Amino acid sequence: MTVPETPASGGPEIALAIVGVGKIARDQHLPSIAADPRFRLAATVSRSGGAEGIENHPDLDALLRGRPDIAALSLCQPPQVRFEAARAAILAGRHVMLEKPPGQTVAEVQALAALAAAQGVTLFATWHSRHAAGVAPARDWLAAHPPRRVRITWREDVREWHPGQTWIWQAGGLGVFDPGVNALSILTAILPAPARLTSADLHVPENCETPIACDLTLAGSGGLEIEARFDFRWEGPPAWDIEVETDAGPLRLSKGGAELFIGGAAQAVAAPGEYPDLYRRFGALIDAGVSDVDLAPLVLVADAFLLGRRIPAAPFHE
Ligand code: NAP
Repeated sequence: MTVPETPASGGPEIALAIVGVGKIARDQHLPSIAADPRFRLAATVSRSGGAEGIENHPDLDALLRGRPDIAALSLCQPPQVRFEAARAAILAGRHVMLEKPPGQTVAEVQALAALAAAQGVTLFATWHSRHAAGVAPARDWLAAHPPRRVRITWREDVREWHPGQTWIWQAGGLGVFDPGVNALSILTAILPAPARLTSADLHVPENCETPIACDLTLAGSGGLEIEARFDFRWEGPPAWDIEVETDAGPLRLSKGGAELFIGGAAQAVAAPGEYPDLYRRFGALIDAGVSDVDLAPLVLVADAFLLGRRIPAAPFHE
């Protein structure tokens, strides 16, 4: 999988609706849409009122029936409820952008991709972390300097970063893989060749359905060894780091891919911002009449759940 390159798109304005106005919709989607001349936020579908000054529909069917002019939808609900919404939107001939992870199973996203192709609409399964400033230059450097060893540390305080998000602890909500899949989306974008999961320890609180921490090992080409540790229990400053050893020295992506260090030296990297770039790419995909659905990060999560040893952990209480 390549890091997406996003040409500017200059086609006609696209009326768009957001479905699920929660943290990520408010923090990132609303400002990115407002700043993008290609898109106009025409409506929301929200159980809790939506966004101030924007027409809101209580359910998706009402919007699809009442607003045939809305050509595109951005689905920002938890993954457990996204499939039916995406399916209905695609069947109604609308272009669809999916927040990450694109679904709660691999097969449902494959089904959506096939449906979008049959309906002639664009399906964009986003991986926002791939649009962080350091990711494309890291991929380019590693193409010339093969990685020998990778260590991923993704730890954050779940109480600070996911307050009140009970869906994360329910089956399909991924637990610590909700942020961890961002690391896997970067890993699968920067490695010159695919890697496969070889072991997983999943630490699952006694009162939860999903892991609060995990330790993964993966094997890549040419003897590449990869270790990843995701932890929601960390109470200090968050760490979202990927460290790569090569024969030409170390490469490190920090702050979720926003900062890049090669041989210990900070590299000057710039990008339009993860979510502005996602919307630019969505416009470009619609113009080109194509979809972008890469399941590699979700397959690694699915494999961790297939192969993983469940290790009981202390109950989690918010
Ligand atoms: P959130 O704050 O819990 O918001 C999700 C919204 O979806 C809710 O506010 C609700 O909006 C709607 N919804 C519809 N059905 C729901 C259900 N059964 N349970 C809960 N909410 C339901 O979650 P979020 O942080 O925005 O995350 C949503 C998605 O974005 C996740 O897949 C997550 O991985 C991804 N994401 C989150 C972040 C982040 O920093 N938070 C970053 C990147 C990606 P209405 O009340 O409007 O219906």
